Amino acid sequence: MKEKYIKLLTYVVYTLIVVGIFVLLIWLGRFDSFRNFMDKIESTSFDLRQSIISKYKKPNKDILIIAIDDATYEYVMDKYGSWPISRSVWADTVNFVELGKPKNIIFDLLFIKSNLSDIKSDIAFSNSIKDNDNIYLSMNFDNYNDKIRMSPVFEDKLKLKVKEGFLADNPFITFINARAVMPELVQVTDNIGSINVTRDMDGIIRNITPIFKYKGDYYPNLSLKVAMDLYKVNEISIKNNSIVIDNNHIIPLDMTNRAILNWYGGAGTYEHVPMWEIIEARKNNDLDYVQKFKDKIIYVGTTATSLSDIKSVPVEYNLAGVELHTTFLNNIIDNNFIKKPNIKYDFLISIFLSIIVGYCVLKITSVIKTILFLIVILILYGAISVFVMYHYNLWITIVLPYVSTITVFVLTYCEKYLLKSKDYEQTYKLAVTDGLTQLYNHRYFQEQMINNINTYERYGVNFSLILIDIDFFKKFNDTYGHQSGDCVLRQVANILKKISRTSDIACRYGGEEMAIILTNTNKDEAIITANKVCNNVRENKFVLANGEKVNVTISVGVASVGINGKTPQEIIEYADKCLYFAKEHGRNQVVSDV
Ligand code: GH3
Ligand code: MG
Ligand code: MG
Repeated sequence: MKEKYIKLLTYVVYTLIVVGIFVLLIWLGRFDSFRNFMDKIESTSFDLRQSIISKYKKPNKDILIIAIDDATYEYVMDKYGSWPISRSVWADTVNFVELGKPKNIIFDLLFIKSNLSDIKSDIAFSNSIKDNDNIYLSMNFDNYNDKIRMSPVFEDKLKLKVKEGFLADNPFITFINARAVMPELVQVTDNIGSINVTRDMDGIIRNITPIFKYKGDYYPNLSLKVAMDLYKVNEISIKNNSIVIDNNHIIPLDMTNRAILNWYGGAGTYEHVPMWEIIEARKNNDLDYVQKFKDKIIYVGTTATSLSDIKSVPVEYNLAGVELHTTFLNNIIDNNFIKKPNIKYDFLISIFLSIIVGYCVLKITSVIKTILFLIVILILYGAISVFVMYHYNLWITIVLPYVSTITVFVLTYCEKYLLKSKDYEQTYKLAVTDGLTQLYNHRYFQEQMINNINTYERYGVNFSLILIDIDFFKKFNDTYGHQSGDCVLRQVANILKKISRTSDIACRYGGEEMAIILTNTNKDEAIITANKVCNNVRENKFVLANGEKVNVTISVGVASVGINGKTPQEIIEYADKCLYFAKEHGRNQVVSDV
């Protein structure tokens, strides 16, 4: 019954621990600093997972980057004496690359203002854009004050057509100003998208904004614009927290209406062609060279460290911004964005793992095995989180289950340890107690005799022994029955307990014999106690099993350390002798001298 109760208590406490931890976590979640801390660790775990799986992901081979790399920058400074490159060079380059029949040429570069000292070049560039409808230009939204720059008004043709649905405003997608493409170029193309990126608090870019809101209208991200043309779509819809381009190309949005990028690798994942090489090839009119551009989706962007468009992303700390946009397009093409399950699933997973770990702590007896089990669970879960990210693009949380399982582990372990020590106490008590009388048993009596002798020898603290034997007990049993005999034994034991001090040790010596070890007690004091016991028993009415009340007497022998013996045996023998003397001389009395 008692064991059952302890077991039940164990599980009640265990359940309280699990529930308590999640209540605590939910409560802590209200504090920004705690949430940010958890987010930071979660994001780092995401970066680690991305670094692992990106090694096994294949990038789209059709995407190519014309890189204004450090060598190109040097080349340009050398040949033309200034940066940026004259737009006539861009015009020539575009015309030359177009000879290779690429799918499109996408500028991850801003052409904001007309160069008044070089109007001819601007015209050449706008002509080459006009001649080729596969060229894309970029712009940038920002939040500059109207006093610094009048916020531009965009032509309808640049707006994104949204068939259904809407996006709620938020600081990641809603802006009040823009760095527009120069009007001369807007006149010749409507292939314009924004290239804004937003960093997380730790400076790493994990999300990208596919759709921007500006003055109440929607505008596409540069790569979204490219993708819409690739799939011949001129309006999108916003449904179920996603941007639907067509049935096969859906961009899932997170809580900030941004998409989480899935990485194919770090810097250099997509083929880089340095710009200087193209300029050289064009000079030599090398038409074989341009064959490499056939059917390619070409992004033009800076990769030079000296031009500093360097971003940190999960898989790479120094990534050229242009590779962020190629990755975005690649994700759209492969329909490969990262999705985050609803937070309630995070909690369900965490609760599930915590329950399993806590339960095993309670069940497994070996400490090493329990710790190993926890480590295996954590590693296994980590591996599963990588697996589901690789196969299902799911970002399941790691921090919440790790924090909750480890906390449950520690607390359940403490609980188990506490209950175990309680259990040990219980077992010890059982081992030294007599079941019938609840007095200490014979073994404990012998132990305590030795202890008291040791204390006497070392510190000179004396002690005495009282031996008690019930008179004519055999006859009593014969008359009233064994059960009534047991009743009497219990009641005599209670009298012993009542009279002895907390420092005294009342034991059942054997059968119907009992003993009290009186610590730090001399013989005179012991005789007083012995008489008290003897008188108490004599005057007590013992209630029998059938309710009948009878009188019982005892005989008592007393011995003290030093004067009656120096070993347990000698002292017990002396007390026994006294007891025998009492029996011989009429019983129902205390004898302390023979
Ligand atoms: P005396 O006055 O000389 O002690 O007579 P006595 O009959 O008590 O003699 P003794 O001490 O030798 O008797 C022991 C008896 O105590 C034997 C047994 O029937 C009884 N006894 C021993 N243990 C128990 C017990 O656990 N329960 C009951 N009911 N009787 C017990
Ligand atoms: Mg006896
Ligand atoms: Mg007896």
